[in-house]
Amino acid sequence: MTRHAGIVFLVGAGPGDPGLITVRGLELLRCADAVVHDRLVPGELLVRAARDAEVIDVGKSAGDHRRQQKDINELLVRLARQGKVVVRLKGGDPFVFGRGFEELEHCRRAGVACVVIPGVTSALAGPASAGIPVTMRQVARSVAMVTASTAGEGDAPALDYAALARLDTVVVLMGHRHLAAICASLLEAGMSEDMPAACIERATTPAQRVARGTLAGIAREVARQGLGAPLITIFGEVAVAGGGSGLAHSGLAGKRVVVTRPASRQAGVAKLLRRAGAEPIACPVTRIEYEGDTAGLLEAVQRLAAYDWLAFTSAHGVRGFSRVLRKHGLDSRALSNCRVAAIGRATSRALHRVGIAADVVGKGGAGALAEAILAASATPPSRVLFPCGDHRRDELIDGLKRAGSVVEAIAVYRAHPVAVTDEAKSALKLGFDAVLFYSPSAVTNFAAVFDAGDTVAACIGESTAHAARRAGFDRVMTSAETTDEAMLNVLVRHFDETEVPA
Ligand code: SAH
Repeated sequence: MTRHAGIVFLVGAGPGDPGLITVRGLELLRCADAVVHDRLVPGELLVRAARDAEVIDVGKSAGDHRRQQKDINELLVRLARQGKVVVRLKGGDPFVFGRGFEELEHCRRAGVACVVIPGVTSALAGPASAGIPVTMRQVARSVAMVTASTAGEGDAPALDYAALARLDTVVVLMGHRHLAAICASLLEAGMSEDMPAACIERATTPAQRVARGTLAGIAREVARQGLGAPLITIFGEVAVAGGGSGLAHSGLAGKRVVVTRPASRQAGVAKLLRRAGAEPIACPVTRIEYEGDTAGLLEAVQRLAAYDWLAFTSAHGVRGFSRVLRKHGLDSRALSNCRVAAIGRATSRALHRVGIAADVVGKGGAGALAEAILAASATPPSRVLFPCGDHRRDELIDGLKRAGSVVEAIAVYRAHPVAVTDEAKSALKLGFDAVLFYSPSAVTNFAAVFDAGDTVAACIGESTAHAARRAGFDRVMTSAETTDEAMLNVLVRHFDETEVPA
């Protein structure tokens, strides 16, 4: 049998924001057998690789370029010859100061197929992310991209600064260490000392910082603010654009919003935030674990016909409960004797997914759900089963008990605290505008690590809001409705009311 020939894809990973890889690049990354990546490639992208893919970091450390490049070339060929689909993931675009062409040539000479998937280069995305266009009608019709580094090139000739000084826009990559020398050379070559300049560190990532100044002053400003690599520098009239934050803000646009729900529940709300122009910061502080068979649970499932009502206050409760049903070979028919009540749209949607239409959907908190159940019953229900979390809602139980019902609250899931990742910690250190809380335990876990301060806490339900106030948040917004949309609406309203438009 002939073995499949391997292939190498030189894929541009984009400038830093994991959302800025191309669709094609992401598809290949997901199905590659081996991923060979640079240091600047975002970690969030690497986790998209197939679980069994070999992921190899060949990030170069300064001063060791030549030998390592040779090793990388050979590694690509070796992997492809093992029949593998290899994704060589490179920061930005593979052919912009990335030595991508050397890798392509090496593969071709070795008889290995190699295909280039272009990427979004930091040379253009960097300025854009600070609101700076590299061309502008009547202001800039020419752009040069230059590198200040001659690493691995021995005594390469100096840049033609006289030619650069005559262009409208000059974008410098790898310039951090030589910034003062580059400015001096441009000045000497005739560029005006008042020429606007801007430097962008870690462009398109949550850690992005921008320094602005003139040709004469930018190096000092960069040193003052302590900006470091990776850094993009722009010289030219265009560099005055995008002052301030670079965005005309309204609603959630430009806001950094921390999402504390479990990792498995982040995607939906992150998408909504992005659509509103906000930057979601994933910071899960709890992990949901569904209960195995506790004695109480087993017994309840065996006696489902004995309950008049089933009450759910969260989608986790629904999922936990239906897992138990499935495990015992049951489905929604086992509930044909009981009526079903749920708080909010998210919970009733979760019920729909397992084939159950709730008889009552409460809009308020747990107390209101108790009232809704009572209102929908001719006489108070005698037995109510309440599959809940380990932090159950006592308002529901109390409300029904007062009316004479027997309520069996059984934990079908537990919210375990999880340690905040280093990545989330460093994103949070850069500041944030609001935090979304979905449960009192999330508030407690978050507040154990971060100061509440004067950030806005947007909470689902009164008990979560109460926990937020107790944890020291001064600005607490409560969404009575339990959907992400409602939660974001509450935030939009808050920002619109409290902020003067730019
Ligand atoms: N192929 C890459 C460039 C590689 S050279 C591309 O197309 O973007 C590495 C240099 O790129 C860094 O020294 C820095 O100048 C620039 N760079 C890459 N990512 C950057 C980022 N997120 N922010 C600022 N500069 C960046």
